[in-house]
Amino acid sequence: MTEIYTSTEFGSLILQNKFASLPSIFYTHLAPTPLANPYLIGLSEPMMSTIGLNPLSADDEFCRIFTGNQLIPNSQPLSAVYSGHQFGVWAGQLGDGRAILLGDVAALNTTDRVEIQLKGSGMTPYSRRGDGRAVLRSSIREFLCSEAMAGLGIPTSRALCITGSDQYVMREQPETTAVVTRLAASFIRFGSFEHWYYNNQPEQLKILADFVLHNYFPELQVKPNPYQALLTEVTRRTAELIAHWQAVGFMHGVMNTDNMSILGLTLDYGPFGFMESFDPEHICNHTDQQGRYSYRMQPMIGKWNCHALGQAMLPLIGGIEETQEALETYQYYYQKKYDQLMHQKFGLLRHLENDEKLIEDFFSLLKNDAADFTLTFRLLGHLLADSDCKDNIVSDLFIDRNAINDWLKAYRIRLHQEQSKDHQRHQVMSAVNPKYILRNYLAQVAIEKAQKKDFSEISKLLKILEHPYDEQPEHDEYAKLPPDWASQLEISCSS
Ligand code: AMP
Ligand code: MG
Repeated sequence: MTEIYTSTEFGSLILQNKFASLPSIFYTHLAPTPLANPYLIGLSEPMMSTIGLNPLSADDEFCRIFTGNQLIPNSQPLSAVYSGHQFGVWAGQLGDGRAILLGDVAALNTTDRVEIQLKGSGMTPYSRRGDGRAVLRSSIREFLCSEAMAGLGIPTSRALCITGSDQYVMREQPETTAVVTRLAASFIRFGSFEHWYYNNQPEQLKILADFVLHNYFPELQVKPNPYQALLTEVTRRTAELIAHWQAVGFMHGVMNTDNMSILGLTLDYGPFGFMESFDPEHICNHTDQQGRYSYRMQPMIGKWNCHALGQAMLPLIGGIEETQEALETYQYYYQKKYDQLMHQKFGLLRHLENDEKLIEDFFSLLKNDAADFTLTFRLLGHLLADSDCKDNIVSDLFIDRNAINDWLKAYRIRLHQEQSKDHQRHQVMSAVNPKYILRNYLAQVAIEKAQKKDFSEISKLLKILEHPYDEQPEHDEYAKLPPDWASQLEISCSS
């Protein structure tokens, strides 16, 4: 029987807003700007449950609330100020130009509270030249990718729902708008710290750092230098996050310091992409002409961003040496996580001397033949240690058959060195080599249908991407190589 939650039951979302306990200079209180006749486009059932809402409660009132047309009791909506380095250049003050934080709520299975933020909910004092809106296509991409990354087991902000309206905004052409409701323990960014440092306001910098320590890293408060410990922890999380990105071929596209989460989450989905034909120089954001945020550059940029945070935290930490000590951990944590993930991707349990070369050689072959990153790794897990009878499922993806066959021979020798068991290796590999990723063309198909008011593909994709490591044979179509037209897709920052 359909059970529809009534309006009073939205009261079960007991909102607080701990960010609002910061001094008022950190944000501006304001209400979202309503959109005409909003409708529901997509809903994440796991996130509904996480914040204690019944997925069936997504009625008209739900839609009004999560478009910003109606406020939940106790809302203290606000937009936060921050600054940042964009494409390596100090950009000065930015801030939530189109995002409004409603507050935080209790979450299932955790003592952490989760913040609810509307993205695309109208102009704020930080909108600069923007209109405070987000277009349908970019909102669908953010909604789907937030949940897809969570499915992959990668730290990320989450998405509760996406609502839309027929109201238009101007981009290169008129487009309809949408609102994504994002969830994260915090949306504080590296740029939030830089803001106070570059504005020469050390008291505010300290208030922010103490707030972050108290709420998100309480265990670090007792360390001899809690600020140094905080920088070390954020550095570790960032390094490990980027190792995860590299391992699934995720490219963020706009790794500016205002898009870097202080909790080490993937944040602010824009012109992101997943690697298809392997090319380490691949740039997913076509406005990034220099390739600053190419796949190959991401680990280095992660480090650069941590250094920018370290610079901002220097007055708190107290000394250059202590700051550098924290930042130097980046390489260690990145390499450790990357090596661990790579070994899992190849199904290798032990770490042996020549593994690095074996792995490097494989990446060279991938690159030379522009083989599909996801498909190749997934199929590699089906090979047998004692027989080459299944080799062609992998070698079929390469042009230079001799080269890949030679590599497969070397790989088999390596498997024998640890008496690798086919079944066990297959399991290990399937748990890190996804079968399903959010390929640009898959998102594009869902977007084009949604532009014609058919939202079914969004729900379908969402369900598949919730379990990207499962075989789901009924959805094999979604794991295939992209069609030819997909190579023409260009994703820009204009969102
Ligand atoms: P991004 O690179 O998308 O993270 O955005 C950089 C900055 O521009 C942030 O401060 C955003 O809030 C702001 N911004 C982006 N798009 C808009 C928009 N349509 N309206 C207002 N602000 C925007
Ligand atoms: Mg941003």
